[in-house]
Amino acid sequence: MGGLEFVVIAFFFGLSAAIIGKIKGSSFWLWLLIGTVLPGIGTLGAILYRWERQELRRRCEECGNVVALHDQVCMRCGRDLDWPREALAPRSAR
Ligand SMILES: [Zn+2]
Repeated sequence: MGGLEFVVIAFFFGLSAAIIGKIKGSSFWLWLLIGTVLPGIGTLGAILYRWERQELRRRCEECGNVVALHDQVCMRCGRDLDWPREALAPRSAR
């Protein structure tokens, strides 16, 4: 198998991972990179990856930024987040 064929195959694996990642609410470009660097494994990873849209979320007490429930640090203000008393509904519930 030549180098070009491998690049083409790797790209299509990357594309499949990117599309699956995008559907699940994650980054298209991140999964394109993972799927291209790790053909097959990246695609499998995207399939097994959690559904971002179905994740519970909560609001940062410091700045009001909405973050995922499992995040331990606010991405905007850097505040350490305790386990919340109440969770916000996932994005898909709206
Ligand atoms: Zn914050």
